[in-house]
Amino acid sequence: MVGASAILDRFRLRRFDDVLGQDGILGSLREKIDRGRDDRLPHLVFTGRRGVGKRSLARLYAQMLLCEKAGEGAPCLKCNECKGVSIRSSFSYVEFSARRFPDERYFRERVEQTKMGMKGTFWRVFLIDDAEWLEAASADVMLKTLEKELDTVFIFVVNDIAQFSRALRSRCQVFRLTSVEHQALVSRLKAVCDRESLIYEERALSVIAQATGGRVGEALTRLAEVASLGEVTSASAWRTLNLEWGETMIACWQAQLRGQLDEALSHFEGIASDDEGRVRAMQSFALAVHFRSSIGTLPFGISPALECLADEAWLPILEGWENLSRRRSVPVNSLIEGAMKFWGGVNRLTPSLASFHNGYERLFGTQKDGPGPGIVAT
Ligand SMILES: [Zn+2]
Repeated sequence: MVGASAILDRFRLRRFDDVLGQDGILGSLREKIDRGRDDRLPHLVFTGRRGVGKRSLARLYAQMLLCEKAGEGAPCLKCNECKGVSIRSSFSYVEFSARRFPDERYFRERVEQTKMGMKGTFWRVFLIDDAEWLEAASADVMLKTLEKELDTVFIFVVNDIAQFSRALRSRCQVFRLTSVEHQALVSRLKAVCDRESLIYEERALSVIAQATGGRVGEALTRLAEVASLGEVTSASAWRTLNLEWGETMIACWQAQLRGQLDEALSHFEGIASDDEGRVRAMQSFALAVHFRSSIGTLPFGISPALECLADEAWLPILEGWENLSRRRSVPVNSLIEGAMKFWGGVNRLTPSLASFHNGYERLFGTQKDGPGPGIVAT
């Protein structure tokens, strides 16, 4: 079996045409490469949400600057300089994570390394990942280096721009990468699968795109994880991305709405392995039902496991609440709000089974407001 990181390596960007949805940035980068050595190149900051594809784009740009085949053929991915970027080290290229090496001494050593051999290129590129972690002393040394060494291009990859050195930022051109539209991301995943001859179900790619919120880098990482286990099926994607509890949750609430406590209970225990996970999931779900019932869709950010459920999956739940509403002559909104309030008020650290019994009794038990759902045939 091939490991996920080896597969991810095969997914890497090969040219600008592979890059999704960052058109403004690409145009600007192309222009810089064309201008080439006639001009000093600006130092760059790539920022945006984690997993959006910043570091991959930064590496591709480095390869285009350094490749021995300048122009149309770049990056060739075969020359020493292209390979140097791939293995993250050469006399022309230095890459490291400031989170792992925030100190000034480490940076100085890596600069020395580039001077020990003959670099074959005009440019020297430093890619500093997680650059918001740089210590002040280290940022100072970089500032001096980038002002003094004119053949050096710094690329800072920054997750949280507010934490990044202001002095460095003021000397860089800042590019903010964004998430991409769902269908475009699915197409990109499909193209990668086709190129690598992976066997896949289209629904699986859609689940991965949805669960990663349109972040290309994260989606490719997850795809590599799924592919490392075999065929890219929906079932495998659900499992790998830890999304299975969404379906278990639907089954659990269907059983509750039908008045089948034992079945509901066994699903409830399967939702997560600990009390906190189960309660948290119930809270998300109650909130999700509220949105599904009132506006017909889910706002982004409730939970990937619920966002990935197909529209049809929600139907039996919404119908169940409607039925209950009719039987009890209580508006469906108030019933759903009752569930939301109950679970919202549960402390995540209390034993979840006791809370579940309590909630079931409160929401579905046969009480003075009419016959409970238990007597209704299904
Ligand atoms: Zn090359």
